[in-house]
Amino acid sequence: MLYFDFNATTPVIPAARQAWLDATDQFAGNPSSQHRVGTRTDHALNEARDFLADYLGCTADSLVWTSGATESNNTVLHHAHATLPDDAEVWISAIEHPCVMQSTRRFFPQSHRLIPVSPSGVVDLDWLSHELADRRPGLVAVMAANNETGILQPWQEILVMCQQYEVPFLCDAVQWIGKLPPAGLGQCDYLSGCAHKFGGPKGIGFLKVPSGRPVKPLLVGGPQEEGRRAGTENVAGVLSMIAALRHRAELIDRGEHESRLQMRRRFEEGLLSRLPESRLTGGDVPRLWNTVSAIMPQTDCRVRWVVKLDKLGYAVSTGSACSSGKEEPSHVLSALGLLPGEAGRVLRFSSGWETTEEQWNELLEGLLKARTLMEG
Ligand code: PLP
Repeated sequence: MLYFDFNATTPVIPAARQAWLDATDQFAGNPSSQHRVGTRTDHALNEARDFLADYLGCTADSLVWTSGATESNNTVLHHAHATLPDDAEVWISAIEHPCVMQSTRRFFPQSHRLIPVSPSGVVDLDWLSHELADRRPGLVAVMAANNETGILQPWQEILVMCQQYEVPFLCDAVQWIGKLPPAGLGQCDYLSGCAHKFGGPKGIGFLKVPSGRPVKPLLVGGPQEEGRRAGTENVAGVLSMIAALRHRAELIDRGEHESRLQMRRRFEEGLLSRLPESRLTGGDVPRLWNTVSAIMPQTDCRVRWVVKLDKLGYAVSTGSACSSGKEEPSHVLSALGLLPGEAGRVLRFSSGWETTEEQWNELLEGLLKARTLMEG
């Protein structure tokens, strides 16, 4: 099977697998225990925290281990709900992941606003600066890169605007971390990430919060993580996540993402020339080097493309993992102004660091074959 669904999740890379196995052998203690088996484990956890803090450019005491980005983002909205005044608003981009969208609706059902995006899929900075000049929300949330389209968002500019107006800023950087340089991310008030998008295991992630300030925890029942997240830490998961991140950081440092971007571009040129009725989503704006979102030529429905490609040996997606299989068009594609008929024909191809040019070429051949089979 040729896997082109890395934005949904990535296989665990060997370095991360080894780190997980080593950790289960070497750090069997509970990091909260007072004896040496426990303190050794706690020490390993702190070293991992130091590495991540250094990588992101924040202090170690501002990092909280979580079960993944869904929990991280829910924690921020829960905290905002528990601590902001009753009349506070939360503004989130119209293309946020469902875990931000739905927790916002849950905690701020009547008092949230959606920040619009341009037809190219980029958050509208003019709208935001205009609205911020007028009133102050209690929280602004904009993701770093969109999971369905790969379109990069101007989070650096939004961070500066939020700092200027003293509005806390949450950046869901799940799809950015481990793919692109992290510079500046650690300055966001809240930042979420998870291991399984960059070669680490599922079920482990982190949340960066403002240093030295309490967080109203989502999970209660223990003093772990300075009272910000109860529950025994997933030590092997953390160490495995950090091993994966170290590996990806080296590739990013060497600028290896540039050559991956060229691969993606060559695939797109091939797609548009050999399937001329296809169109790219966000084709005119910067996107993640690994993500192609394309409106495919007309067939019965997009699931047919996925099913046909699956039978031919290609794993691709119709959008976010959460939207797949549903009939209604994704909220992300709708926010970009795609009509239901167009959104229904969007396929997402997302590669990994290890994906080769030959595999991109093979995918293109697979698409042509699937098209011929569906016409026949
Ligand atoms: N945010 C974004 C942008 C994502 O792509 C995902 C995963 O699909 C999540 C949040 C949720 O992350 P997790 O699977 O760690 O809960």
